[in-house]
Amino acid sequence: MGITVGVLLQEKAIILKPLAEIFIRLLNMIIIPIIFATLIVGITSLGNIKTLGRLGSKTFIYYIITSLIAVIIGLTIINLFNPGKNADLIIDQSIIDTLPNTKMNLTTIIEQIIPKNFFKAIVEENMVSIIFFTIFFGMALNYLGKAGKPILDFVNALNEVILKITEWIMTLAPIGVFALIATLIGEMGLGTLRPLAIYMLSVIVALSIHLLIIIPIILYFFGKYSPKKFFVNFFPALATAFSTDSSIATLPVTIESLEKNIGVSNKVTSFVAPLGATINMDGTALYEAMAALFIAQAYNIQLTLTEQLIVALTAILASIGAAGIPSAGLITLIIVLQAVNLPLEGIGILLAVDRVLDMCRTTVNVAGDACGSIVIAKMEGERFK
Ligand code: ASP
Repeated sequence: MGITVGVLLQEKAIILKPLAEIFIRLLNMIIIPIIFATLIVGITSLGNIKTLGRLGSKTFIYYIITSLIAVIIGLTIINLFNPGKNADLIIDQSIIDTLPNTKMNLTTIIEQIIPKNFFKAIVEENMVSIIFFTIFFGMALNYLGKAGKPILDFVNALNEVILKITEWIMTLAPIGVFALIATLIGEMGLGTLRPLAIYMLSVIVALSIHLLIIIPIILYFFGKYSPKKFFVNFFPALATAFSTDSSIATLPVTIESLEKNIGVSNKVTSFVAPLGATINMDGTALYEAMAALFIAQAYNIQLTLTEQLIVALTAILASIGAAGIPSAGLITLIIVLQAVNLPLEGIGILLAVDRVLDMCRTTVNVAGDACGSIVIAKMEGERFK
């Protein structure tokens, strides 16, 4: 309905913007409390540091393997379709001046991860720092046992409160998603997408392979969960991811759908989902590898196999570094381009179509996080609905 209304109303679809704004602001409003409360509940329900280590290592292995599969799919498809060859390029030079400095060194990485001031991290919405502090907090509560109990009871209650608010916000989801898509299509007009159509198509094909073939295979064999049921039960989160462009904004819906509709325990979702929303991005890894190769093709630069391997590895790193917010992947693409000396101006070409592709890759990112939660819950011996 969103697409139809967007196409019909065109610019007039803007009248629906307030509805979209209300939905997206409500979601954003509860993200930081949700990360703080769920992650602490998750960590403390794991019991001891050994279980945390076990769950943590399984989670990271899952993240890396699935991102690698995604990147391989992306590279294969882009080499097959070759969309950069005859692309109609419009280079937006001004974008280069606006690009942030993404030079990565040990100091900047430490600054990103360890907050100097926890409250500043909250105000600046630095999710990685918030998660870092929260993990410490949860571990200390575990360690203290009885002495920390009043705080633990408080956080458990806080978690219940946040989940209740999420449930209320979720009743607005269909209207919110509808309004978001209608205004987006109306504003953008489908015509702007034409010059890069083949490129977009290749990205969409690659993302679809990951979403509709790889994730179902993993779910079926490793999660012992029906892919069909997954797409039905997890649909609210997929639709929210598609329309909001943000894994983090979708997090409340991801947790709610996993627990209420699929039956994954709070113990697993509260650990795997918030981490996944910030660092596990299959869609983004796939996209960045494809975008880098597309730019190389468009500038007629041949990349050797070793260089393509560097693209694959840096794309995974860049996807880990990307925040779960709109267009984050386009920014961390700089890391991939720099690694193999591709022109940064290339990003200007991709800007025009980024919004649509971001919607698609965010959907894959969120599906990957959910699939991970199901697989890990299964490994922990859980049964689903
Ligand atoms: N928007 C994506 C997400 O939130 C990140 C990206 O830009 O690739 O998952």
